[in-house]
Amino acid sequence: MYYKVAAQESKEPSTTRVVSECPFCQTKGTFDILSPKDLWLDRQAIAGIRYCPNQDCRGLIFFILTGKGLNIYPPIKISINREKIPGNIIKIFDEAVTCHATECYIASGMMLRKTLEAICEDKKAPGANLHQKLRSLSKLITVPNALIDSMQVLKLMGNDAAHIVAKDFEEIGKNEIEISIELVKEILKAVYQLDDLLEKLNKLRKVPNDASTS
Ligand SMILES: [Zn+2]
Repeated sequence: MYYKVAAQESKEPSTTRVVSECPFCQTKGTFDILSPKDLWLDRQAIAGIRYCPNQDCRGLIFFILTGKGLNIYPPIKISINREKIPGNIIKIFDEAVTCHATECYIASGMMLRKTLEAICEDKKAPGANLHQKLRSLSKLITVPNALIDSMQVLKLMGNDAAHIVAKDFEEIGKNEIEISIELVKEILKAVYQLDDLLEKLNKLRKVPNDASTS
């Protein structure tokens, strides 16, 4: 968010309640006051610094509160479940999510495409290009058909993000990227996390797998 400062004065004491999710530890709460002074900008906005109420985190943030709402920096990222996902894949996906949080939507689209490439690489899906690799991948993994189809659409979106002239999407903006990130989360869950959940559930059963048929 861009805010042009014309005039400033201090606002004492710092009584503005900053209620938000923490960008570092995802704790939700009222951020603690660090300085006795906030800034009153153009008599329209309040800016200041706070820190996370989670004692294990205490991460420092900057906030600006305008008539349009609260903005905090670093920005809050879409949360992702990292469990069981290979490190190189989560690193690429995390970068896509960071790009989204900083409103770099085209860069995010490119990183989402790269996430799909990394999944194909990890599963050793053969093919001369990503289109073929995704088709091979669909035979190597068990995921719903809708997710298989979504991977091809995500690939087209990633292609448009990477090229000057877009072919398939009018725009690659906030909405397109948020839907795409949710889809990639579902793909990662289906490819890497569902088996693990099933295994955990089976371990909690009283009766072994093959002893119960009803
Ligand atoms: Zn925190």
